Amino acid sequence: MTEPRTVRAPRGTQLHCKSWLIEAPYRMIQNNLDPEVAERPEDLVVYGGRGQAARDWESFETILTSLQELDEDETLLVQSGKPVAVFKTHPDAPRVLIANSNLVPHWATQEHFDELAARGLIMYGQMTAGSWIYIGTQGILQGTYETLGSLARLRGWPSLRGKFVLTAGLGGMGGAQPLAITMNEGVGLIIEVDPARAQRRLENGYVEFVVDELEEAMTLVQEALDGEEPRSVGLIGNAADLYPELVVRGVIPDVVTDQTPAHDVLSYVPNDMTLEAAAELRTGDPQEYTRRSMASMARHVEAMLAFKQAGAEVFDYGNNLRQRAYDYGVSEAFEFPGFVPAYIRPLFCEGKGPFRWVALSGDEEDIYKTDAAVMELFPQDKHLHRWLRLAREKVQFQGLPARICWLGYGERAAAGLRFNQMVAGGELQAPIVIGRDHLDAGSVASPNRETEGMLDGTDAVSDWPLLNAMLNAVGGATWVSFHHGGGVGIGFSQHAGQVIVADGTPEAAVRIERVLTTDPGLGIVRHADAGYPEAIAAARRHGIKMPMLKQD
Ligand code: NAD
Repeated sequence: MTEPRTVRAPRGTQLHCKSWLIEAPYRMIQNNLDPEVAERPEDLVVYGGRGQAARDWESFETILTSLQELDEDETLLVQSGKPVAVFKTHPDAPRVLIANSNLVPHWATQEHFDELAARGLIMYGQMTAGSWIYIGTQGILQGTYETLGSLARLRGWPSLRGKFVLTAGLGGMGGAQPLAITMNEGVGLIIEVDPARAQRRLENGYVEFVVDELEEAMTLVQEALDGEEPRSVGLIGNAADLYPELVVRGVIPDVVTDQTPAHDVLSYVPNDMTLEAAAELRTGDPQEYTRRSMASMARHVEAMLAFKQAGAEVFDYGNNLRQRAYDYGVSEAFEFPGFVPAYIRPLFCEGKGPFRWVALSGDEEDIYKTDAAVMELFPQDKHLHRWLRLAREKVQFQGLPARICWLGYGERAAAGLRFNQMVAGGELQAPIVIGRDHLDAGSVASPNRETEGMLDGTDAVSDWPLLNAMLNAVGGATWVSFHHGGGVGIGFSQHAGQVIVADGTPEAAVRIERVLTTDPGLGIVRHADAGYPEAIAAARRHGIKMPMLKQD
């Protein structure tokens, strides 16, 4: 058996593979497992409950050797984290194609998935874990910053200044919440059941205080609210105990959400038990664990409904918590919205979504230079400038230096081409990897999240992410992935990812322009096809050809 080991992506300009297009996935899969980046690297778990980078250690090591041996006209196929074949394709084709966690719909149940996973036949890829473009907590930080900013604007607040945000979960994704709240000038109370997770966020500066007692936490919160000072307080405890407790005490926050791993009943920790007891029950009696977990999520959601009733802005932050509570009998669980229809869809209609990039050199200066280039490209975008300034000041890099910002149609291609020029001109030490989350305008079908409440009722139609994956593959993305279940759990979503490398060559420029145009372009098309007027206008404005789109 291949043993776990500590993994860190190589830095510098020396290649371990036959080209930068192959070196990029070689570094990025290792970067996903860097102890600074991954939540449980010894189990190959990157983030999001059980989201893995490779199926097992033998598969991981074989992916690395396969990439080292891969020729520039070959493509490696990865099936649920296991390298299954190498085929001769052509230099413009993706170097890696990945399919993770996919099951035929009738069999796409958690039980069947768990049976296969226990036999080592499948792996949970989450979104960017199994597609090797996770950049640590910064990725979700930007998304959370955008979401809270949009929420404040829609509520007519200049920012979250003087506002109290209650949430839970300080894991790989959830850990971004305290910093996103303070970057929006608000006061956050974040409940986390595992003291080690909270400690980690304290050490990397994402949360400012961590306390054990509710009284102490509320004193810190009230003090900051009174002084209208931004502040974040982590509180050790279980959300399914503490949300109801706050309701009983009549404490009504301005904003309430949650980022516990509700997508996975075996990762969510049931209330009224210690972490050790939970760990024992999880392995000893998974069925009883599931029952207790679901019952806790029902309590958790009932408290959120009570907050909503009392006037708080309550939303589901994409972990499928409402569905679990609904399945357990909370019939009003969907009375508060998901964050996409509430705050993000207008951005998707413009093809706007998460655009991230990573400096393969490992040199932080490469990222600072690209930050400056992006500011220069979009001088009018003050929101973007504020983010890039704050990110430089507050975000500690995890693993290879990386940056993320939300860019729209046209902007992504422009930024990608600029990076490619910078590599070509020797301004950067090494090539740049450009990718994104699967949570994007045209790349995901997820009826409880990204495609919740679509105008034409096509929430569950997953032709769109399939078209997205195929389009990115023919366009020449460096690696393309298609996953099931990430974010909201098995049975609830399908989505595609793409990563493209700017290696400074003219061939890369052609591929970048193509992929970074069609990828957000499909997002506009998906929303225009569903009848969103903003997307129809965007399609017309950009001259995107949609044969069935009626002319005015
Ligand atoms: P994670 O597993 O890394 O962390 C979850 C954290 O919640 C852990 O620290 C855990 O100790 C804590 N926790 C578990 N049960 C708890 C309870 N009952 N009370 C308090 N704390 C509890 O997961 P993550 O990567 O942080 O993701 C969290 C959730 O957000 C997942 O369901 C994920 O799918 C979802 N997600 C949302 C988005 C988005 O864009 N909104 C993006 C990615 C993931």
